[in-house]
Amino acid sequence: MPRILLVEDEPAIADTLVYALKTECFEVRHALTGQSALDHFAAESPDFVLLDIGLPDMTGLDVCREIRARSQVPILFLTARDGELDRVLGLELGGDDYVTKPFSPREVVARIRAILRRSGGPGNGGAAAAAADDGGGLLSLDEAGMRVACSGRPLDLTAHEYKLLLIFIRQPNRVFTRDQLLDQAWEDPGAVTDRTIDAHIKTIRAKLRQAHPGSEELIQTRRGLGYAYVP
Ligand code: CA
Repeated sequence: MPRILLVEDEPAIADTLVYALKTECFEVRHALTGQSALDHFAAESPDFVLLDIGLPDMTGLDVCREIRARSQVPILFLTARDGELDRVLGLELGGDDYVTKPFSPREVVARIRAILRRSGGPGNGGAAAAAADDGGGLLSLDEAGMRVACSGRPLDLTAHEYKLLLIFIRQPNRVFTRDQLLDQAWEDPGAVTDRTIDAHIKTIRAKLRQAHPGSEELIQTRRGLGYAYVP
């Protein structure tokens, strides 16, 4: 049973989330302040942290920074609607993703499951080596800096292009359907179509080709199925 640390100071939001998470068979610990979150974290090393950015005693970003100094546990931020800058900072500080308020508890649970899936589930120490080579040698991933280089040249990627490449690099040779890619790389998969994935794959390939001719073939099309990264 994955153990979740929920850090949220608004009782109404916290109650709804605690209920939804328990219903989905997560074990939940709730902290109302940043300091109490850090205390819980030190005492219990949870499998997942759900972290509000606006907390009474410190910001969620500070909490994230302190946790990241010790642990690669997956972190999902809860942000206010207008907190664009917070979101960007949160991801730069090592958050795995964010959901914007108001959100449905169902959306949060889906996002937690997706992140746990990506990171290999509870207990593996989290997703991320700081930097990893894909083994094929051409692509190298810098997770902390959220960058990918091809043949040593950093690729100039949009957020979605980066997320897609990250999914591929983490599971070489696996075929992903367009739905799976949408589900993992998009905030609101309902708002985009399969064509969106095709368009992004096209621009990723163009950027790969520019960095190292021929490397665009690393992302292969499996007709009628989806895409795979084949190092
Ligand atoms: Ca708050």
